Order: sequence, then C-alpha cells, then structure tokens
Amino acid sequence: MNKRAEQVKKINKELNLFNEIDDAPTSGSGKLKDIAVSVKDCICVKDMESRAGSAILEGYKPVFDATVIEKIRKEGAAIIGKTAQDAFGFGSFSVNVGKGMHIPKNPVDKTRSCGGSSGGAAGITKAADFPHIALAESTGGSIVGPASFCGVIGFCPTYGRVSRYGLMDYANSLDKIGPMAKTMEEIALMMEIIAGYDDKDSTSLDEPVPDYTKALNKSIKGLRVGILKNSFGQGVDIQVAEKVADGIQKLEDQGALLQDIKLPITEKYGVACYYLIAMAEASTNLAKYSGLRYGKQEKIDGTFNEYFKNTRAIFNDESKRRIIIGTFVRMAGFRDAYYIKATKVRTKIIDEYKKAFKKVDVLVSPTMPFVAPKFSEIKKLTPMQHYMADIMTVGPNLAGLPHISIPVGNNKENLPVGMLLIADHLKEETLMQVGNKL
Ligand code: GLN
Repeated sequence: MNKRAEQVKKINKELNLFNEIDDAPTSGSGKLKDIAVSVKDCICVKDMESRAGSAILEGYKPVFDATVIEKIRKEGAAIIGKTAQDAFGFGSFSVNVGKGMHIPKNPVDKTRSCGGSSGGAAGITKAADFPHIALAESTGGSIVGPASFCGVIGFCPTYGRVSRYGLMDYANSLDKIGPMAKTMEEIALMMEIIAGYDDKDSTSLDEPVPDYTKALNKSIKGLRVGILKNSFGQGVDIQVAEKVADGIQKLEDQGALLQDIKLPITEKYGVACYYLIAMAEASTNLAKYSGLRYGKQEKIDGTFNEYFKNTRAIFNDESKRRIIIGTFVRMAGFRDAYYIKATKVRTKIIDEYKKAFKKVDVLVSPTMPFVAPKFSEIKKLTPMQHYMADIMTVGPNLAGLPHISIPVGNNKENLPVGMLLIADHLKEETLMQVGNKL
C-alpha cells in the first residue's frame, strides 16, 4: 500500500467516506500531477468496483472508463477511490446507502450528515490534508447540497457540458458530473479538463471550452445579481439567511448591482415537478437491474418470478419507493395527470429562469435551508420532509443551468453555510468570476 492510500484509509476508518479505495494510486504527468482525485461511486472506473452506492451492483467492475475518467487520467490524476453516496443518487443526506454499506459522516461534526447524494465526495474534499479534487454528480442538487454541509465548493455545470458517458443513470434528462474542491482554482482547472463535446453522449454540447482560470480574476463591477428574496423567508434557518446575506454584501462591496427577483412557478412547483420527472426516469433506469444482464446474480432456483423477486429485493427502501412512484406516474391512465404535466411545468420553469436572466447575470439564495443535520434529526424526517430539503437546488437542475455552492462562513455552532449562485446556460465563467470574489 502506498502512502496516499494509507492516508485515505485512515480518514475513511473514522468517516466512512469511501466504498472502495485504491491501494496504490499513482499519478502520471499533466495538469493533475500530484493531485488526488476521488470519484463518486456512480461514475465507472475501469477495473474498480463501481456500485453507484447500491448492493445490487456488488462485484461489478467496469471494463471501461467513463469519459471524465479517461480525461483526468490523461492529465496524470491519481484516482484514490470511489466515494460513498445514497444508492443511485436517491437522497439528500447519504443515509439511503445500499444494504451492507456505511453512512458517511461529516468531518466537521461526526454526529451530522455530509449531505447527499454525493456525501462521500464532499466529506473527503473537506477532510483531505493533501491536494485533492472530487468528481461528483448532481441530478437535483447532489453536488451543491453536500458541498454546503461540509464547507467546500461544489460546482454543477450546464446540462450537456460534461459528458455523461460512463455515468450510471439516475435520471438521464437531469444528470450532470461536476467537481468539488477547496479552492476556485481547482474547480476551474478540473472544469477545463472534463468539459467539452463527446460523441459517445448524444446530449453532449458541441461548444468550445473557455479558459475558466482566466475568468477567476475578472472584476464583478457592474455585475447584476438577482436575490431570490423568497428563499430567505419561512422554513429557512435564520443564521443561514444571515450568513448568505453577508455573502451578498461582499458582492455589493465589490461593485455588484443588486435587485430582488421572484420565481413564483419554480418556488411553488419545483420540488413536485422534480420528483415526478426524476422518479419516472429512475424507475425505467432501474428496470435493467434484474440479475439477468445487469445486477447481482442470485442463485437460480425456483420459478422466474421467484428469481426476479429475490434479485429486486436487494434494492433498499428508498429505491423501491422511487420505482413504485416512478412507475405509477408514467402508467397509462395516470401519465397525463402526472408525468406529462410535470414535463410541461418544467418548460414553464425554464421560461421563468430565462426571463430572469434578461434582467440579471446571476441568481443568489442559500444552498440548503439549514446546516448539516444530525443523524438523529434525519431519522425523524418523513420522505416528504426529506424531499423538501432540495427546495433551492431542484430549480437550476430542472432547467439544466450551471450553479455553484460557495462557503460563506459558519453559524454559531461552527457549522458551515453555503450560498448558491445560478447562471444562465453555458455561463460557467460568470460563476467562476463571482465565486472567486467570495
Ligand atoms: N436529493 C435529490 C434526490 O434525492 C437529488 C439527488 C441527486 O442530485 N442525485 O433526488
């Protein structure tokens, strides 16, 4: 075992941030030389067990690298392991892990969640005492949410900006890969490496990749900032609202022009719309894990139905809940009332953002309505309360907009608070520019 692997194992023993650790990660030459990269479990890494946090994929070692992995290897990255997550990305606190897997703990306070679903990624980004960047994934907020709970930066690009080839699908129309890091320089560097067209992903955008590092130093004088006023009100922890207000003040001090913006449709229907679409897509994606071509193969005895039932029983409760709801909302007879309607609301949400971006360059709100919750508090949440935690993050994800969570200080208990910044499609540079001023 090499020294880096020993360090990672030591951290992991205390915090359960990894599902798989490479015993001898080595780095090559290139822009990521000497930088350790952790990879969320749902991103395929050749010959490394890749389970998307689910027991149903036990023993699955991909025979290929995801496009993002190919790209970081070319730049000399040392891949240290696969980070813990809610199974298939289903959750906001990384407590919905696969059967037999461990729940990651927040390095800031071990009695609290790292957030989810990219909990392990955010945890190791905070805990690593060596140069490190995480590759994470977001469907509805899984990069920025955990980043905010752990006090690191989380960056989610425009949908299609980074190839999804080799990412295990949660919801194909929503999934994005993006980095987490301690500094904006590392975020910009990683985005320069992983962004760009890939003919292996039919939703990949054929657009040039800008020099994100250069954007870091651009002034924000005259930049128009829209404050999502309603996201500071009811249901939002007062200390979180105060810290984010301090962050906004910093932007104003540097010449940004503030105005209030309201997104009534997104605020009212975003969570419902997101969960209908995400679950509908997830339920079709999970159909393939039947133990025939994909998924763990149980001993074959009894009838086909018994075999199928035993295999599908490996899914955890949250995965089963989503298969049932997702199948229901797209069933003949219900499809028009739920799934089709949700897709129409999604278009209205996109229009609402597009209108807002005629008036402002970025939108600002808290990332999560509260700081990292204790595991004992999460146990008391109903599934509905669990889903409501994503109220600020589902909007930009439904609209495919780039967004970032930046730490803006700690509350009185020393727990980190994150501020969410959203920009228009392909305006990642604006987020680099603003992020670096915080
Ligand atoms: N919390 C959201 C969900 O459970 C988002 C997860 C994600 O972005 N992967 O669907």
